[in-house]
Amino acid sequence: MYSSRFLSVILFILVSLSAQANTHRLPENITLERQNVALTLSPKQSEFSGYTLMHLAIKQSSDIVAYHVRDLVIESVELTHKGQTTSLEIVQPNEFDIVTHQLSKPISGQAKLQIRYKGKINQKTMGLFVADQQSGSPYIFSQFQEMEARTVFPGFDAPDKKARFEFSVDIPKQYDALHNTSVVSSQVQEERKIVRFAPSHKIYSDVLALAVGEFHSVKLKGTPNNSVVYAPKTITLNLPDDMSELVSNTVRFMEDYLDYPFPYSKLDFFVAPIDGLAAMENVGLIALNSHQIPEQDADGFAMCRFRKLIAHEVVHMWFGNDITMGWYNDYWMHESFAEFFAAKVLQALYPQETGCAFNPQSSAFFDDKHSARALRSEVKYRGDNEAIGQLAYTKGRSVLEMAELALGKAQFKTQMRAYVKQVAGANTSAPLFTQHFANRAWFEAFINAFITQSNYPLLTLSKQNAQIVIQQSSFDSSQDKRWTIPLTLKIWDGKALKTHKMVLNKARMVISNVPANAQIFLDTNGIGYFRYLDTTGNGKFPVAQLSRAEQASYIDNQEALAMAAKIDFMAYIDSLLHIINTLPHGTLEVSNALSTLQDTFVTLIPESLSDEYAHYLRSKLPSISEWPPILANQNGGLWLELYGLNLSDSSAISAAKQAYKGAPLSELAHRTAVLRVLVANASEQEYQTLLSQFAPSEKHIKEDLLDSLGYGNTHSQIKAFYDLLLSDATKGHDIDYRFQFPAFSPKHRAYAGEYIRSHKKAISKRIADDKLQWFPYNFITACSAKDAKIVKSTFADWQDVQGLDAKLNIVLEVINECAGNAKRSLQSVRDRLGKNQHSL
Ligand SMILES: [Zn+2]
Repeated sequence: MYSSRFLSVILFILVSLSAQANTHRLPENITLERQNVALTLSPKQSEFSGYTLMHLAIKQSSDIVAYHVRDLVIESVELTHKGQTTSLEIVQPNEFDIVTHQLSKPISGQAKLQIRYKGKINQKTMGLFVADQQSGSPYIFSQFQEMEARTVFPGFDAPDKKARFEFSVDIPKQYDALHNTSVVSSQVQEERKIVRFAPSHKIYSDVLALAVGEFHSVKLKGTPNNSVVYAPKTITLNLPDDMSELVSNTVRFMEDYLDYPFPYSKLDFFVAPIDGLAAMENVGLIALNSHQIPEQDADGFAMCRFRKLIAHEVVHMWFGNDITMGWYNDYWMHESFAEFFAAKVLQALYPQETGCAFNPQSSAFFDDKHSARALRSEVKYRGDNEAIGQLAYTKGRSVLEMAELALGKAQFKTQMRAYVKQVAGANTSAPLFTQHFANRAWFEAFINAFITQSNYPLLTLSKQNAQIVIQQSSFDSSQDKRWTIPLTLKIWDGKALKTHKMVLNKARMVISNVPANAQIFLDTNGIGYFRYLDTTGNGKFPVAQLSRAEQASYIDNQEALAMAAKIDFMAYIDSLLHIINTLPHGTLEVSNALSTLQDTFVTLIPESLSDEYAHYLRSKLPSISEWPPILANQNGGLWLELYGLNLSDSSAISAAKQAYKGAPLSELAHRTAVLRVLVANASEQEYQTLLSQFAPSEKHIKEDLLDSLGYGNTHSQIKAFYDLLLSDATKGHDIDYRFQFPAFSPKHRAYAGEYIRSHKKAISKRIADDKLQWFPYNFITACSAKDAKIVKSTFADWQDVQGLDAKLNIVLEVINECAGNAKRSLQSVRDRLGKNQHSL
């Protein structure tokens, strides 16, 4: 799955309950072989009715039968065993949604369970939900990941209980129905239509799907499974030209790499604006949010992100759907493998546009704090995995890339093939995976160090007794942890480049056979899940000897060290200013430097210093009077935002105003940047005018407005923005992370907190239950003790939201850590500003 998300993501500490062992799991000795599900439903009705028949196989004799149910009204339960049918008493589920029927005498062998029931269609993206009600042509779609299938039919809703499913639906005759498998019959009877689908492969319930509505479709010509893209008829399908090629090539790449054919016979897509979801890997019917489809004139980076998303979902057909975690604690394996191979697909098929797939780990570090949840953690409740968030993708992929780098590509591929052969069509786990690499003594300790611990290592190079020494510690020093880390070092001795492999498994090791004056680069390929600090004094590693990904890693690492006050902050700012003043305006390096300068306003500089700091930067940055040549660059928006939004530069503000007057919104270049600058500098009346653009605009322009209107500069503007987010006008758009924009500004955090505190009810109505826990992340860029207080009081009444407490702890750890580090960084800023004023 891919959720739409905040700046970044993560975890939590489980509430420990005194539950008996395994009451959160179904009995091991009963398996589900086949299940029929028949639903009677309509997009215009809020309730549906269902009938299900489960074919059970009971290995040892059992005096119970058990299955999952949530939010369903059970009408009857009948058990058939050895030709005898008995009615079972209706029992309420336990806190893990498990219904257990005590039987009068033990049974074994084959048994059938038949259940009649009623359920409710959701308004939010959970279980079966309805969308587009306002348009007059509503449709039903499903999202079962994770543990949501149980809200649609009673069943064995667990990844180790794979079964063949046979679905049928009874719907009003004007609608179509889509499912994981093809339609085998469709019979109209008066006003109704009964649609039966082919039986599925053996799959787990999270990846089942159902859509009911009025749809149109486009064929993806030449694809190996004759893929079709469906969409509600209210949605225009503008797919990129190379979509067919992308799907075909991804399938072929995976078949070739794994030496294992595509495991299913159908690979269709369902495209719609789905709240809170970018895409979902349902077997044979991948869900794709229409907002993820790039515009016709999208740049390389946007195309790269889209291709990576599609490749990711297609890869899930192998990793996740065919090879499935044995339990949810290994959910990280689904996302990590999907990300790992999606990046490989991009590198193989689009080598010129892989920028979006660099540095898998860089966004993960952000909130992988000690209080974060480890990738492999106990899971009992729905939403526990939602709590891991982005780390399952980024950190997990980075660990796989480190493994591949250490073993070499060919060796890694050979062992992956052997692994896939063993677990094909079945369940897997982290231990099963690491077993295949047992010929490397360090492998298991390495994987476990990264998947069972939070936070990440800081590797420090130093010179002691004419030798180079490498040490490890936790990046966040409040706790000390150890990792086993395979390293491939790049060594430059002034003449030639060499590599050196080692496994760091102690706090401190001497790097042998390397000259004491050599320059060493620690993050070969830019993939390491660690940060690094060079205190040898041997000078900077020559940039020309680094790949693009390694250069990006170097830049990202320096930023992290500066933000955490591990190097001098203003010396770092000087290096950014140097880049901006010496390199061509449109380069990637300049883009990074510009956006980092912007970040410093959000994550470090307090309101009291912000004017002076902006003044200092303006005095050191290029003075721009002619904006059109700057805006002609792909990164023109970054220039405009930094100057117009953060530096209040009058020429940038006029340039934004001119651009806005000169073109309709639909044709406006750098639309988001222009809008943000206008919003940040708007009078009340101007803000109202911009706000009024929302209702009549096309969906993609609405998206840009939602990314801009939160930059208002007064409380009434922020209130108007938040009211818009919570209104019906934004249905079908993600709203959760957009609450963070006003909170980016230190001076508006208190007001943002107060609004959120007093609108808990309205917010809860719009956000899926398991996603509500992320709301504190809207304040994760805050950086002072005062901010921490604001955040605590904002969420004081949210303790009933599952997982929220743990998220709040992470956010508070980020804020407090930042506040601690900021003391040194801000001293560096004050010293410089003081000096600067002196010299004036
Ligand atoms: Zn995924």
